[in-house]
Amino acid sequence: KLHNTILELKGNIRVFCRVRPVLPGENEEGKAISYPTSLEALGRSIDLLQNAQKHSFTFDKVFVPNASQEDVFTEISQLVQSSLDGYKVCIFAYGQTGSGKTYTMMGRPGNPEEKGLIPRCLEQIFETRQSLRSQGWKYELQVSMLEIYNETIRDLLSTNKDAARTDNGVSPQKHAIKHDASGNTHVAELTILDVKSSREVSFLLDHAARNRSVGKTQMNEQSSRSHFVFTLRISGVNESTEQQVQGVLNLIDLAGSERLSKSGSTGDRLKETQAINKSLSSLGDVIFALAKKEDHVPFRNSKLTYLLQPCLGGDSKTLMFVNIAPESSSTGESLCSLRFAARVN
Ligand code: ADP
Ligand code: MG
Repeated sequence: KLHNTILELKGNIRVFCRVRPVLPGENEEGKAISYPTSLEALGRSIDLLQNAQKHSFTFDKVFVPNASQEDVFTEISQLVQSSLDGYKVCIFAYGQTGSGKTYTMMGRPGNPEEKGLIPRCLEQIFETRQSLRSQGWKYELQVSMLEIYNETIRDLLSTNKDAARTDNGVSPQKHAIKHDASGNTHVAELTILDVKSSREVSFLLDHAARNRSVGKTQMNEQSSRSHFVFTLRISGVNESTEQQVQGVLNLIDLAGSERLSKSGSTGDRLKETQAINKSLSSLGDVIFALAKKEDHVPFRNSKLTYLLQPCLGGDSKTLMFVNIAPESSSTGESLCSLRFAARVN
């Protein structure tokens, strides 16, 4: 691998926890969350109080509510750099609906300071591409964006609106996934576009947002029931040395992790719930097996893990954000999210 990435990894899997601020209108006086300040715990630990019982967790990093988007990006920019060096990288946002996953990934539209990781990653990549030109490097970048809803892939860059939008009639087999011997993933009939600037990508992100599942329920609610997978394929060649690199950067806004009561849901909703539970627990199982260096890694148990298989194993790099909502009413879900993340950490 080239341009030596200086990244101290204990294994290739890291977990960052991010607690969002209390939002205007949320009335929060409870002190369910606190941050130990001892020297060894500072910036890495979080305590959650539930029924007078304290639960402590330690991660590679804990971002407190006033951490800015830039603060968060600073901590991942080397990971982004390694995708230009030829590594396969996955960055996930995990957490209950409303915990800040989309804010972390996309940011708040219209406010440049609150841009999320995806636009920041792209800006860095295009800038680096430009500056490496003087050393003879030429990079080509391609994006695809898809969502996985009920274990079915949907192409979000499709210009065929009917194919992208309707719930019914999308055959689960349409976008069959294949991995070739050199670790490249092919998704049948998936739109893959060459991109030349970060502006071009933001245009495509808007297009993708409009193509996300819209069902009978509200758009916002519906999109939290599917996984959003943004993939940037990076191929670089050095014209003087003829060195080549092939990297992949996957940025994934996962479906909400909240446990929906099975008894209350029926029909489509029950199917959704089962699909989400299955894929999130499969993701946990896969990352756990990789972290423990187990011989068998159950990639095939869900679409998401199978799709990302080449980008999760081997010498690829994975970062999981566990997003946490601060209100006391979320403590139960927060505890589940932290336990999930602590298992894969
Ligand atoms: P999710 O995608 O997990 O459902 P969102 O990212 O939509 O959650 O966040 C829920 C709300 O909280 C949104 O209004 C979002 O703008 C706000 N929010 C989330 N994280 C932050 C943050 N770090 N700072 C300010 N507002 C935030
Ligand atoms: Mg969201």
